[in-house]
Amino acid sequence: MSWDTVIGQQRVKNLLRSQFESGRIPHAMLFHGPEGSGKDAAALLFARALNCRAGGFEPCGSCPDCVGMAALRHPRLKLIFPMPSKDDESSAVDKFTEAELEEMNALIEAKADNLYQPLGMAKAAGIKISSVRDIRRVAAFRAEGRGRTVVLVSGADRMNSSAANALLKTLEEPTGDLLLILTASRKEALLPTIISRCQLLRFDPLREDEIRDALLRLDDIDPANGQVAAQLAGGSFSLALQLAREGGLVRRDEVLQYLRAVVTANPQRLMDSIQTILAGDDRQVLVRFLVAVASWFRDVLAVQSGAADRLLSADFREPITKFAEHYPDTNSSHAIDEIEYCIDLVGKNVHLVNLMIVLSQRLRRCITQEGLVV
Ligand SMILES: [Zn+2]
Repeated sequence: MSWDTVIGQQRVKNLLRSQFESGRIPHAMLFHGPEGSGKDAAALLFARALNCRAGGFEPCGSCPDCVGMAALRHPRLKLIFPMPSKDDESSAVDKFTEAELEEMNALIEAKADNLYQPLGMAKAAGIKISSVRDIRRVAAFRAEGRGRTVVLVSGADRMNSSAANALLKTLEEPTGDLLLILTASRKEALLPTIISRCQLLRFDPLREDEIRDALLRLDDIDPANGQVAAQLAGGSFSLALQLAREGGLVRRDEVLQYLRAVVTANPQRLMDSIQTILAGDDRQVLVRFLVAVASWFRDVLAVQSGAADRLLSADFREPITKFAEHYPDTNSSHAIDEIEYCIDLVGKNVHLVNLMIVLSQRLRRCITQEGLVV
């Protein structure tokens, strides 16, 4: 794995390279920018470069240090990420249940396999103070030979105040050859005193074409799904990957059921349909569903503009064509806009049932030019 694994972000790579080549590497850095833009990926590649025995910015990939770093199991690399909270705040890793330890190991393996995989445990509450205290233990360990010990604090914006204060203390003390890299999508959630002790590096949202090209380089991605996912991911490769693998075409029958409920103007049927979609109370599931609805309207748009041969999901050609014939006035591009706006809101603190009711009303207007009374 080389720097090519880090998608786009040329400005960031150039900065890291010049820092590497000058040898002036700070003790703490903060990588900030949108979720899924490659902050962790860049941090892990930088850790590899700093420890590769070949000594270049591009890690050789074959020395024992590169191999250990690639597996994310190396004495000079420590990963800190949000974990489930325990009653006893001082508890160390050994107090986790076997299932949690297994989950942690699986996460690290998945991250090693794909650096864009978020380090998110199912019941994570935030960065634990005991994890932050561990940094000092790592700092005391002086490895032989060249290289820098790197501590990656992934999701550093998910720290409570006691963990943040412990981190601040660590930043104030000399920590030998330790390089602390914090990654955060919400910089403003960090203490200003922490930010001021870090060298800042901003990550931009990835461009749609960068995401699409990276997706299409993977073997298991259906090209049509990849295209839609890149359009909808809002600059996040992690989200695009998830959408491309699980979203898109798989829930077309559910989409059809939902749209039928929208157009029949039967409030009870619509509420039932919305309750089914929201049954798991999982915002990610809802996002995937909405992606599928948007891709339905993209196909309707293709049929409307005489490009029926370019459907994203050719296996649904018949219902899509019927739909386009039955509702010839459908404003598909407006419907797609409404859905994308709605996907944006799912990540925020909104009431999902209300959100879906409003979206349904708007979609009905896009399809039939009539309002809907719920
Ligand atoms: Zn190497």
